[in-house]
Amino acid sequence: MTNSNIDIDKAGWSFDNTYSKLPDDFLVIQAPIPVKSPELIILNKDLSKDLDLDFTNISEENLSQLFSGNLLPTGSNSIAQAYAGHQFGHFTMLGDGRAVLMGEHLSKTKERFDIQFKGSGRTPFSRSGDGRAALGPMLREYIISEAMHGLNIPTTRSLAVVKTGENVMRDTYLPGAVLTRIASSHIRVGTFQYLAATQNNKNLKVLMDYVINRHYPNIKNSKNQALDLLKTLINVQINLVVNWIRTGFIHGVMNTDNMSISGETIDYGPCAFMDEYNPETVFSSIDQQGRYSFSNQPKIIKWNIARFAECIIPFIDNDKDKAVEMATEAINTFEEIYQNKWLNMMRDKLGLFGEDINDQILIMDLLTWMHKNKADYTNTFCFLMNEKFSFNEKYNNEDFIIWKKRWSDRLKLNNNTEDKYLKLMHTTNPLVIPRNHMVEEALAAANNGDIEPAHNILKVLEKPYTDQENISIFQNPSPHGNEDYKTFCGT
Ligand code: AMP
Ligand code: MG
Repeated sequence: MTNSNIDIDKAGWSFDNTYSKLPDDFLVIQAPIPVKSPELIILNKDLSKDLDLDFTNISEENLSQLFSGNLLPTGSNSIAQAYAGHQFGHFTMLGDGRAVLMGEHLSKTKERFDIQFKGSGRTPFSRSGDGRAALGPMLREYIISEAMHGLNIPTTRSLAVVKTGENVMRDTYLPGAVLTRIASSHIRVGTFQYLAATQNNKNLKVLMDYVINRHYPNIKNSKNQALDLLKTLINVQINLVVNWIRTGFIHGVMNTDNMSISGETIDYGPCAFMDEYNPETVFSSIDQQGRYSFSNQPKIIKWNIARFAECIIPFIDNDKDKAVEMATEAINTFEEIYQNKWLNMMRDKLGLFGEDINDQILIMDLLTWMHKNKADYTNTFCFLMNEKFSFNEKYNNEDFIIWKKRWSDRLKLNNNTEDKYLKLMHTTNPLVIPRNHMVEEALAAANNGDIEPAHNILKVLEKPYTDQENISIFQNPSPHGNEDYKTFCGT
């Protein structure tokens, strides 16, 4: 296109765009809509390395053009993907209304990554939306998704945020931004629902084959691929939600369009981490029934998986009744698998090796105590790991001391030692999470042109299991608790 285009081509792109070759119903060809005066705010150098992309020889001006979508590298092929979704239980045909998939890039080890611009302008799926995004929510997705990566939780990642130099109208005018998001793919439960709704089984089969090829090649040779895909999805989603429960994460809007087939956390909107333990915690201002509350997340994942199963019934068995029976049987294993993984995860949080018949009671009693005494979820486990904080008076409580004695007795089982259990606990319990008030402070500063606080919080969240200099200011719970904190979809 221009000389600048040659400049951005120096990054080392290795495009292999497979999704854009799928049938017409899956997508529309759509370029990002150019923005007025893009300005690069943040670029993720570590992630660039993981992708085998090198941006160091590209001028700041051209990086701004690149990560706003104003200039596209050679070999990219930008599309908007079609999908549907149950939003708070109601089915809607959706699609990328403010995002485009710029291309699929292969790292040197041939790992495949979607590169998506979010906030890149209107598409045929935009409905009444403006196709744009504001700086705050895009930077928020950047911080939280990178924090999730640091916490070893499967997630999409964030490569860059660019300010567009244009305002977007929300409750008020806000600075516009584009986020460059990296995902192992952007295929959602809702992608299957979209094609199922068009009643074209041929297309659905194409999607299923594509997903198996791209994400789960191990089931290519299985006798019943569709059933095995369902079972795989159950497992990867349970792994994901157990990780959310481990760290106190609340996704906030687990509509079927926001659930990735790959098992990565995706679409960071009104999500947040809980401070004091309360299983009913909800941050999202629109989730008035608590559908997506902290402790409801496993149930909702199961509900979403049932919507997925409905789409692939035709491929499980030719006899529909038989297929439904087989799918139901698979879905009914959810609770038991979840319960086992949850219990083992909580054992890890407490440094417990092996199994004891009273483990579940021991765990539930701690959670009940935390709930009753408004104890901080993250910091309670830090306290049990002998981390010393200023807020530790809370644990001079008689009930807690009695519980702790039971825990100490349990720790003695199965040849456990202090070294062993502390090591296990330190790999399971983060010392630091993205505290809501710290994230808000970083976003407010960025809105005023100061990106330094965002860098500081990102830095400490890179290694959340490791003690670091200055970590303590990031460890305090919000002075206002969970209750005053509200999140918004941020569209
Ligand atoms: P989300 O809440 O971000 O998961 O989005 C739900 C649906 O609304 C998706 O299809 C989005 O593409 C679409 N959407 C969200 N915000 C906008 C916007 N500002 N303009 C157009 N479409 C949007
Ligand atoms: Mg979404």
